[in-house]
Amino acid sequence: MIKIDNYSDIVGENVITSIYKKMRKLYGKHVLNINSTYIGGGVAEILSSLIPLMNDVGIDAGWRTVHGNVDFYGVTKKFHNALQGQAINFSQEKKNLYEQVNRRFSRYTHINDHDIVVIHDPQPLPLIQQYTKRQPWIWRCHIDLSAPNKDLWNYLKRFIIKYDMIIVSSEKYESKDLPMEYRIIPPAIDPLTDKNKQISDTIINKYLKKHDVPTDKPLITQISRFDKWKDPEGVVEVFRRVKDKCENCRLVLCGNMATDDPEGLRIFEKIMSKAKKMIDKKEIILLTVENSILVNALQRKSAVIIQKSLREGFGLTVTEGLWKERPVIASNVGGITLQIQDGENGYLLEPNDIDGYVDRTLEILKNPSLSQELGKKGKETVRKKFLITRILVDYLDLFNDISS
Ligand code: UDP
Repeated sequence: MIKIDNYSDIVGENVITSIYKKMRKLYGKHVLNINSTYIGGGVAEILSSLIPLMNDVGIDAGWRTVHGNVDFYGVTKKFHNALQGQAINFSQEKKNLYEQVNRRFSRYTHINDHDIVVIHDPQPLPLIQQYTKRQPWIWRCHIDLSAPNKDLWNYLKRFIIKYDMIIVSSEKYESKDLPMEYRIIPPAIDPLTDKNKQISDTIINKYLKKHDVPTDKPLITQISRFDKWKDPEGVVEVFRRVKDKCENCRLVLCGNMATDDPEGLRIFEKIMSKAKKMIDKKEIILLTVENSILVNALQRKSAVIIQKSLREGFGLTVTEGLWKERPVIASNVGGITLQIQDGENGYLLEPNDIDGYVDRTLEILKNPSLSQELGKKGKETVRKKFLITRILVDYLDLFNDISS
């Protein structure tokens, strides 16, 4: 059972007492969270820890997921891509489907005695239209909103302006054309979950063996959904060139399929065909299983962790890698820049700087003391700024402000 007291050794007793202090006017508040999936991806990852923690400290926090179908998630994935700047064929059919699914969901989703409603990401955003508002509604958007597609943004604004507040992960995502109150709450990881807790070498080796990941050579990993914004093809390209100069390494791409992400299979198959030879020779290992301890083991065993995203709302995989004291090479985009200071606790590169990725990877592979140094600083960054208790504190501050 997730209990706040269990975090005191990691974050310190002061943090725990400050949480209880902030709770004084919040006991028994009924808070409803709605997102679109309970599995796969960063949002589900955070809510799985945050919501039980809220309950443990005395908030009655609930979690529901909007009931979409394949077509709905196809549309919302296109919205997601367009919010990150990609073009969209923005048809009336898409709008109809988007609103219909939300309308239907609202018919059996009763929001009466809740004190606060928190809607996560664009999928359930239009729900607010379906209710007589009796409480503050907050829209928590985890996406990189620095350059959203204009047509889509103008359409979504009609829903957004009904909200009392927007939470984003970085101030870069605040929109100048919305007269709304913004809060910045960067995401964070839970150090006590299976994905992040300390595990022994025996467990690490057992899980890697079970999933057919050889450990005779140093591992370069990217752990991310098979999604074009995560650029797995670019990672394969980097690896090909690293391999030309250094035989002694292997690439692992591990990507589960989120239930609200219909594009994953297509991208996975593209990688399979493009890198077939290297996959057959086990130079590249592709994994699609959903297993937190496996992710933990892979991250801990990695000689280099890559996150070559083209856009990234925040990038929990970066946080997870830093927490495990591993050297992380990642793109200078979105929320990743909040976490890595180039050359200090990891490396930041322009997303298309393949040469840079190759050089940094080789540099780390050749220099274990460099990776130790980066890794130590990385862990401290996460301890100070990106643990789940900090999100809890931010939400409690927000709930206090919005309720008074
Ligand atoms: N993840 C996982 N298995 C995978 C791929 C990803 O458990 O095969 C997890 C990863 O460890 C992280 C989350 O999914 O906790 C991804 O969050 P991130 O913010 O990096 O990206 P998102 O998927 O939300 O865009």
